[in-house]
Amino acid sequence: MPDALSDLLPALVAFRRDIHAHPELGFQEHRTAALVAAALKEIGLDVHEGIGGTGVVGTLRVGSSDRTIGLRADMDALPLQEATSLPYASTRAGVFHGCGHDGHTTMLLGAARYLAGTRQFDGTVNFIFQPAEEGLGGAREMVKQGLFDRFPCQRVFALHNWPDLPAHHVATRPGPIMAAADKFEIVVKGKGGHAAMPHVTPDAILAASEMVGQLNTILARRIPPMATAVLSVTRIAGGHAHNVIPATVNLGGTVRSFDPVIQDRIEASLRQVVEGVALAHGVAADITYDRYYPATINDADAAAAALAVAAKVAPHIQIAPEPAFTSEDFAFMLQVTKGAYLWLGQGANPGEGACSSPLHHPHYDFNDAIIPTGIRLHVGLVEAHLKAS
Ligand SMILES: [Zn+2]
Ligand SMILES: [Zn+2]
Repeated sequence: MPDALSDLLPALVAFRRDIHAHPELGFQEHRTAALVAAALKEIGLDVHEGIGGTGVVGTLRVGSSDRTIGLRADMDALPLQEATSLPYASTRAGVFHGCGHDGHTTMLLGAARYLAGTRQFDGTVNFIFQPAEEGLGGAREMVKQGLFDRFPCQRVFALHNWPDLPAHHVATRPGPIMAAADKFEIVVKGKGGHAAMPHVTPDAILAASEMVGQLNTILARRIPPMATAVLSVTRIAGGHAHNVIPATVNLGGTVRSFDPVIQDRIEASLRQVVEGVALAHGVAADITYDRYYPATINDADAAAAALAVAAKVAPHIQIAPEPAFTSEDFAFMLQVTKGAYLWLGQGANPGEGACSSPLHHPHYDFNDAIIPTGIRLHVGLVEAHLKAS
């Protein structure tokens, strides 16, 4: 890569650390979005703000081809207290770039800067900076507000730093790469009464306990053994006194899956199990089941093309043997546009002692050493898809 990239790095690292120190939660990324928009304008891109809340799109056209590509980064931080003592640690209590979106934003901005200078392609690049990836569906909002109608993209790609892979290594896979995420809430309703008179009071605690046990049989007994999914009950709350049977008990949890048929089956089984147990115990149960993120499904050709690009810029590439059970709202973009989601390693290399903390861990930090690799990947994707003739 020409010197141009190394010249850009000091300012990019400073930018990354600045937004790390000033993190913003989903749909509140006003400062970050303004910095991104200003930087994109400075390098001459056509900049559009306020898409899907705080989303920003910068467009760079070179040549006369009608080919198009989108590259996406997420800008939001997590509601989590940072526990590092870094000089650029979060200045905002309880808000923290614990997933490395500060790094993603920086790498995409770096790619825009680099490509605006070198212009070795023929077509249109849309640099998509999205809000609210962490559970709030910023990508869905941008798509709803016409992202791909206003900024057509034949292919769209996104990178996520990956602590489990050595730094600079790249992995992706055809088909599912991140899980669909559902959440459920169950309110078990009895009558409430004296604990010494259980025969006149349906026991919401006992019913809820049995529901937890039965819900844990769904994956073992209701879906095919070769299918992969997770169902975790993560919350149970009810009661406040030793001598009172409570009137209500609340249960909550999550379901992760990769195949919509399996997802349907799990939801239907959950409803059946909860209603059946409730009936047996003489209680009622209100069920709220929310499918908040679909599975992230890579287009096979786009994933293969991305790995071919990665092979030129990364020391090691691999087809990931299995998807991750975490979820990603880039899924909404891949539902309407072909593309792929890639993991960029940021962990320890063989022989190194230090290792990156996992994503969403209070000691996590984005590894600035991978910024150039991320930029080369973005640039490679553009130069491959929009090949200058
Ligand atoms: Zn995250
Ligand atoms: Zn993330």
